[in-house]
Amino acid sequence: MIIKVHRGLEQVGGCITEISTATTRVFIDMGQNLPGVGEPTTEEQDAKMVNDIFAMDAHKQTAVFYTHAHGDHVGLFQHVPADIPQYISAGGKEILLAKYETLKKGHEGRKEQGLINSISQMLKGWLVTQQAVIRKDEDLISRIKSFRTWERPKPHATPPTLTVGDIRVTPFFNCHSMYDSHMFLIEADGKRIWHTGDYREHGYLGKGLFPTLRRYATDIDVLITEGTMLNRTDECIHESEVGRRMASVMNAFKYVIVLASSTDIERLATIKEASKTTHKPLYICNGLMKRTMLIFTRREGKVSKGLFEFHPHYISKKNVKKDSMKKKGFVLISGASNLAFIQELCKDFNPSDVLLIYSSWDGYYKDPAQVALNPRYKSFREAFTNVIDIHTPGHADRKTIEKVIEVVKPKEVICIHKEPGAEL
Ligand SMILES: [Zn+2]
Repeated sequence: MIIKVHRGLEQVGGCITEISTATTRVFIDMGQNLPGVGEPTTEEQDAKMVNDIFAMDAHKQTAVFYTHAHGDHVGLFQHVPADIPQYISAGGKEILLAKYETLKKGHEGRKEQGLINSISQMLKGWLVTQQAVIRKDEDLISRIKSFRTWERPKPHATPPTLTVGDIRVTPFFNCHSMYDSHMFLIEADGKRIWHTGDYREHGYLGKGLFPTLRRYATDIDVLITEGTMLNRTDECIHESEVGRRMASVMNAFKYVIVLASSTDIERLATIKEASKTTHKPLYICNGLMKRTMLIFTRREGKVSKGLFEFHPHYISKKNVKKDSMKKKGFVLISGASNLAFIQELCKDFNPSDVLLIYSSWDGYYKDPAQVALNPRYKSFREAFTNVIDIHTPGHADRKTIEKVIEVVKPKEVICIHKEPGAEL
């Protein structure tokens, strides 16, 4: 059995790990480099790199397994040869579909707008390009639809094992800032490998981490763990503490905007619960968030006894309930792309009545490289007079990683998904 970390040993994201035997190759993640991390690559370079990986040992039975749907783990899926099976959790597949179908809808909207204004030759050229963009969206969506999936078993039930050639892969649910993330037990040539994916203990769903490891991560030869936080000093408070802090500031302002990710089920639940505690109606204005909340409610509403059930008011340019919002106050969850809409909504509010809770990674506005690549988070923050950061990372802190190693007692540890020079 051979473990080869193709990428992601000395960088956060862009993960590709291969486990192979004489007859079989299994890849864990096929991730795109995060913007501003590692060498920037063109799409052609990405395609060539993935092609070269699969051209090697092409006679072996091969499959790709994704730990979760963040782009730095799944982002190169379109370059994987069409005859190689790709596996992701059923929830992860739904999130990916939601993301790419929302993108396509945006491109179609832009094309329609272009058609209305289509008078010049230049615009006609743009329309042809836009049509190509939409065709590409369709290709990506059909690739995602072909992904094979596994369903999370009921609590305390043993998950099903998936077999590829002579390698066995068993997925175990874990807690991360992306919905339906998993870690894997991989059995090959009599060896047992545990791959954590991205994980944390300090979320609502993190209480299962150590019981799962104690029960299933036994006799492990090699532990492959993420190490995102090893060099970072961010405070890892529990997700419920994020909720308490949010509720206390929500009380002090009539209008509250929260900047958060559409695919982080736990953070969305935290914000929803805080809005309930402070008796403020909950609004959203982001198309992807509307869709992910429907997915979360359908898949998790009942089993979570309502924690992951969402019924916010959805507002858009065509349907803004401004009078009622102005009168009653609100909590509005937003994505980074919705700033113009929110500025229009709040333009005649007294700025001192409006609070922005910034509930995302602070690197997006603090790190100059991140800002250069995507200035939207910084612009969002700067548009408000009152801003507070309330966040906790989606990744395990050093203490948790050390405890994982202590509990699993592996013969060897490989630490991936970490900053250059970070050490255990
Ligand atoms: Zn992740």
